[in-house]
Amino acid sequence: MSDRERISIPKHFSSLEETGEFWDTHDLGDYWDQTKEVEMSFRPKPRSLRVLPCPECGSLAMKRVWGPCPLQDGTVIPDLERFPCSRCRANFFGGAAIRTIAAFRKRSSRYKKLKEYRP
Ligand SMILES: [Zn+2]
Repeated sequence: MSDRERISIPKHFSSLEETGEFWDTHDLGDYWDQTKEVEMSFRPKPRSLRVLPCPECGSLAMKRVWGPCPLQDGTVIPDLERFPCSRCRANFFGGAAIRTIAAFRKRSSRYKKLKEYRP
């Protein structure tokens, strides 16, 4: 953008929509010299980080935890992230946990086969 085409960042926007429209059509990189550094701090709501709504029962009773996790077939995964619900006792697993369980089972079945075929 040439200097002639460039305008100043408006001092005030009348609404969030107006702000959005401005930044949808303007590149912040072209206005970098009109910005100033500010110090900000954010404090996320603890509830949004610690307690989640349970997809099974809908209660705000699901937490993110790590540790040994016994599975229904008796296998215990030593360190697994999961989301148990304290209300309905359902357990949920993220994609990384599913991959960990699959890898653990694959290693275990290989180990069993080695033991079975050992002379
Ligand atoms: Zn639940």
